[in-house]
Amino acid sequence: MSKGIVLKSKEEIELLKISNQIVSKTLAFVGELIRPGITGIELDRKAEEFIKDNGGKPSFKGYQGFPSSLCISINEAVVHGIPSKYEIREKDIVSVDCGVFKNGFHGDSAYTFAVGDVNEIIMSLLRNTMKSLYLGIDKAIAGNRVGDISHAIQEYTELKHGYGVVRELVGHGVGRELHEKPEVPNFGKKGKGPVLFEGMTIAIEPMINLGSKNIVVLKDGWTVLTKDRKPSAHFEHSIVVGKEQAMILSDHDIIEESIKKNINLKKI
Ligand code: MG
Ligand code: MG
Repeated sequence: MSKGIVLKSKEEIELLKISNQIVSKTLAFVGELIRPGITGIELDRKAEEFIKDNGGKPSFKGYQGFPSSLCISINEAVVHGIPSKYEIREKDIVSVDCGVFKNGFHGDSAYTFAVGDVNEIIMSLLRNTMKSLYLGIDKAIAGNRVGDISHAIQEYTELKHGYGVVRELVGHGVGRELHEKPEVPNFGKKGKGPVLFEGMTIAIEPMINLGSKNIVVLKDGWTVLTKDRKPSAHFEHSIVVGKEQAMILSDHDIIEESIKKNINLKKI
């Protein structure tokens, strides 16, 4: 096995599941709150409280100096957005990334919310990015290689739909550390990269741009924007590599339940 990759026991996977459940519940909670006029700072404050009430610790706060509990990346922001005073508007897309640490393990998942009447081209970007996440997960089977996941995502988003796949940021192993080996790029070649073993836990997270793949980092040192300022989508699941299929540890169904109930959000 590739150096530095940590396989997890059944017990450890159960603990990872607990952390990821809190992540998913937090994202669902955020999905109840998002509406035009609310700020990222308000969402972040409430999410942090929610995480603590559930016995967890926000993984991102303080990570390499990141100031907040959530990453909130709006429209042309790809990832790593710092929650700000900006008031969310009708037609915005809002990517929310959440990490929770509990019992020694990190959960990590992200979802992009569509606020109100988002146009069909952008809705398709969201739908297709989400679809590519599941195509990647389908390849997370023991004996495959990381490149099989990467290629499935790139083929669907870049080759089939002409979107830009961000190169500088990638998925990753997840466990006792928020970012473990191996790196899981959203681009690559079939049959290349580290071999996947049963019990490897990874976060798969396509970051897909409507326009070109190029990005820039804002002066705040964190927020990643598309260079052409076209919108970008981000969906992420933490999963366990399985013998016949992967097991998804995070849960987007409960997020979609809260979207259904929130009249300010459009179902993807
Ligand atoms: Mg994440
Ligand atoms: Mg991640």
